Amino acid sequence: MNNTDLSLGLRKRVLYSSIGLAIVVSAIFISVAFNLSRDLGQSLEFDHSNKMLLQLTKSVKAIIFADEINEFPLNEDVKKELIALLDKDVIGFEIWINNKHIKLKNSSFYSQDDGIANAINTKKSSYGFIENETEMLFWVYESSSNDDLSILMVNKTHALDKAISYVSNRLFITAFLTFWLTVWVALFISALLTKRFEQSNERLKYLATHDMLTGLPNRAYLYEHAQSYFNPESVKKHQDLNTLFAVYVIDLDKFKDINDTMGHLVGDELLKAISKRLCNLRDKNSQVIRYGGDEFVVWCDDLNENDAISLAEDIVLLCRQPISVNNYVFETSVSVGVAYYPASGQKLEDLLKNADIAMYRAKKHRLGFQVFQQELFTRTEFRINLRGQLNAALEKHQFVLHYQPKVQLPDNNIVGVEALVRWLHPKEGLLMPNMFIDIIEQSMFVHEFTRYMLLQAIIQCREWLNNGIELPIAVNISPYNLMDPELVGYLCDLLKHYKVPAALIEIELTENASMVNIDKTREVFLQLKKLGVKLSIDDFGTGMSSLAYIKHLDVDYIKIDRSFIIDVVTDSRDEAVISGLLVLCQKLDKLTIVEGVETIEQANKLASLGCTLAQGYLYSRPLSAEGIVSLLSKQKVETDNEIININ
Ligand code: C2E
Ligand code: CA
Ligand code: CA
Repeated sequence: MNNTDLSLGLRKRVLYSSIGLAIVVSAIFISVAFNLSRDLGQSLEFDHSNKMLLQLTKSVKAIIFADEINEFPLNEDVKKELIALLDKDVIGFEIWINNKHIKLKNSSFYSQDDGIANAINTKKSSYGFIENETEMLFWVYESSSNDDLSILMVNKTHALDKAISYVSNRLFITAFLTFWLTVWVALFISALLTKRFEQSNERLKYLATHDMLTGLPNRAYLYEHAQSYFNPESVKKHQDLNTLFAVYVIDLDKFKDINDTMGHLVGDELLKAISKRLCNLRDKNSQVIRYGGDEFVVWCDDLNENDAISLAEDIVLLCRQPISVNNYVFETSVSVGVAYYPASGQKLEDLLKNADIAMYRAKKHRLGFQVFQQELFTRTEFRINLRGQLNAALEKHQFVLHYQPKVQLPDNNIVGVEALVRWLHPKEGLLMPNMFIDIIEQSMFVHEFTRYMLLQAIIQCREWLNNGIELPIAVNISPYNLMDPELVGYLCDLLKHYKVPAALIEIELTENASMVNIDKTREVFLQLKKLGVKLSIDDFGTGMSSLAYIKHLDVDYIKIDRSFIIDVVTDSRDEAVISGLLVLCQKLDKLTIVEGVETIEQANKLASLGCTLAQGYLYSRPLSAEGIVSLLSKQKVETDNEIININ
């Protein structure tokens, strides 16, 4: 039912119920007033007739008893004299005296009346009304035992008729006026109600289809309005004109970090600023939607492919302009996924899903924007399949650890290893962590998975200890694991059970920008520290929280991210960053490890800057446990400073 039907229905209901109410009120009013007027009329009639009868009785007595006319029947002159006394409305006047019955006036109208007959028979004074078809009669019977005189008088009513007709006239007018007024009031109220109803309906509709923060249409609006685009005629039109309808899914990068660190008010302001920018891009064929959280959707019709791409570029560039909010300046960026209709989907859901897939790729590879292609879907499908196999993979022990050495500079002695997971997939072969770690992190297996990795690493450590190898193993944990209340207890039990010294286990926590919760991290790190395990911050310098981490967390190692190492030989800025970090870490009493060292030049440069610990393909790729053992034994026989490289 639409709103017009609803309001029409409401109007009708108000009108009908008001009319109904008016009728009921009028009916009650009429009936009460009618009864009242009748009672009043009767009482008036009674007073009037009684007075008349009293006078008549006096006169009758005077005439009958005056001249001692005690003969009956009365002679005609006396009768005439008595009749002359009667009012013209008196239609019955009968006298009983000395057992004589004299009918001065009588009529068949009342001859049958039981009330009168009863009064006469019992000689009891009484009165009453007789209603015949045309008129109303009032009778009064007065019997006086002193004189043995009884009189019956019947007369036509006047007061009653008058009262009733008087009242009924006015009643009719009043009832009509009440009715008329009620109908108008009802019409007025119903119009008022309808207006209010329509206004609140409009408001509700607006609230349901718009986002309160930015004022932009929301997801409900999108589904309501965009659906009309998707039909066979529209497909044909776009094919004939060689135009497309593009859906852009826009997601703010690192918005959660800003929200978490700067507070929701700043986050809100940022969203408003971005929404304004997107609206500035709008032309008549486009629409900006706040799809949810930090996600916006823009749709634009009648574009050619070049226009569609330049719109995506415009969105990316526009959102990269610094935004100032509450005296802070934010360097924002967005990732945009684009899907074309009809090529990339003929339904809104498909287009959004595909644009979303493209957006994730753009975000992951920091591309700015990505146009959907079928291969992306295949890859997503592949990952979805992997997600479904996680549980079985854990149960079937398909996750195995490889170990990459950490070396001491400049002599390159192996001082520890980092445990890196691999998935021995029965169909896909050896899968590297970048294919599945994020799937695990997003799943409920993340805690179970990490505990399993800790178990494997500790078992390996025990095995090496049994063979006389004392080699610290670093295990990677995801920031999500910090939320696992049993993590520390579990690790403690493992260390005890396998009798592995805690100092041989190191926990590497990625400085993941999407999980900045310093308080929680500090709390868990303190517990881990108490156990005696070593702690390190991984990929240092990539997240937003680097300095907060380094300041607030009591860690042993800082692993400087590979991105600073790649160009350290050629780019003096990277060199400056690393030198600075080294000084900082030294001041804060933390050891640094440089990651991703691939060339001798890099190694020499880093050593000259003061790096003491390194990891990278130059020294060794990640190896199986056996590979590490043979590398260690090789190292033993190496006598000079030659760099070990098994590649
Ligand atoms: P990460 O912790 O930064 O690990 C180092 C990654 O860099 C490893 O990749 C390693 O093979 C690679 N690498 C080492 N030296 C070099 C080099 O010289 N050049 C280049 N290009 N790469 C180098 P891998 O094994 O693919 O692991 C990738 C990431 O997956 C790891 O990065 C870590 O964040 C995550 N990961 C691996 N194993 C686990 C695990 O058991 N649990 C968790 N939560 N994450 C893990
Ligand atoms: Ca690591
Ligand atoms: Ca790393």
